[in-house]
Amino acid sequence: MEKLQVKISDAEWEVMRVVWTLGETTSPEIILILQEKMGWKPPTIKTLIGRLVKKDILSTENFGKKYIYRPLVTEEETVKSATESLFAHICAKKIGATIADLIDEADLTHDDISMIMEELVAKKETAVESIACNCVPGQCECAEH
Ligand SMILES: [Zn+2]
Repeated sequence: MEKLQVKISDAEWEVMRVVWTLGETTSPEIILILQEKMGWKPPTIKTLIGRLVKKDILSTENFGKKYIYRPLVTEEETVKSATESLFAHICAKKIGATIADLIDEADLTHDDISMIMEELVAKKETAVESIACNCVPGQCECAEH
């Protein structure tokens, strides 16, 4: 399966959260919300919207003087892409410990914990004995272990 790579900056992510929440929106609506939250100026926000259109992450449709923006990628796909790119930055052997750290640092409900435990029980069925280091020498200490 081909992996969808969604690469957006933290600032672009703020714009996308508005569009994902509203489903379809206009630049005055986005500006209203982000001026309040982030204190950004309208031209800054318009630049971010323009970049997202260029990256095919937002679609734009013209109604007279008004432009309607809609998301072309889902929030879920974007979060997944960000997680994959985080894991691409670390040694394959360290991913388990990183996930454990993420769990340790997160505020979780009983329901969240049940869901994670279910995932882990299912994951146990396909667990591997060991994971090979995928790093080049000089970028991790695995070779010394
Ligand atoms: Zn390694």
